[in-house]
Amino acid sequence: MIVADRKPLKEILEMVGDSKKVLILGCKGCVTVCNVGGNKEVGILASTLKIARAKEGRPLEVEEKALERQCDPEYVDQIKDIVEDYDAVISMACGVGPQFLSERYPGKRFFPAVNTTFFGGAVQHGIWEERCAGCGACGIHHFGGLCPIARCSKSLLNGPCGGSADGKCEISKDVVCIWDLIVKKKMEEGHLDELMIFRPPKVWTTARDGGPRKSVREELVQ
Ligand code: SF4
Ligand code: SF4
Repeated sequence: MIVADRKPLKEILEMVGDSKKVLILGCKGCVTVCNVGGNKEVGILASTLKIARAKEGRPLEVEEKALERQCDPEYVDQIKDIVEDYDAVISMACGVGPQFLSERYPGKRFFPAVNTTFFGGAVQHGIWEERCAGCGACGIHHFGGLCPIARCSKSLLNGPCGGSADGKCEISKDVVCIWDLIVKKKMEEGHLDELMIFRPPKVWTTARDGGPRKSVREELVQ
């Protein structure tokens, strides 16, 4: 899923500026699962904003709503009859949400309340870690099902760098060296010899480096 973190209140207050009435719009997708932008977090942000503005002597009217997803026009359309009621809409979805909203409602201001960080999952309750960088050409079968693109600090494809020590990455003792895990996994598989095959430099045109990407499924296009 997409993992995100809420922006600091100060930053959100600055974006809201002199607005007098705002809608905080959550999303019931990934940001609900990672506890940053669902109904509960919309409620918390609404209360926090109202209190902060009341303390400044500039009351802010805040209403709350959460869409099934903000990355789908079908749901983005659901605020068409109310969007004009607000000076601005604060989106608590990943970075896709406020962009879909902004394109759909040209005259309206949309502010992002979260920082979108990575594709990952929960490794324990309350802790999420990055697993994929969305490179567009998955090759983890060469590496024991583990991703050196997203999880090696240097995205190395042919073994660890000289900084790998005691299973940790040289950038921090808190970061696992994924190459340590890849080697162990290939040993467990009984296919360590496969790591001797040279992996040529990755072609990054399928990743972000090739420009904005698009996925078209002809059978679904209407
Ligand atoms: S190889 Fe690319 S697509 Fe596969 S997990 Fe790594 S970053 Fe994601
Ligand atoms: S120590 Fe390991 S994870 Fe860190 S940059 Fe070197 S090979 Fe990559």
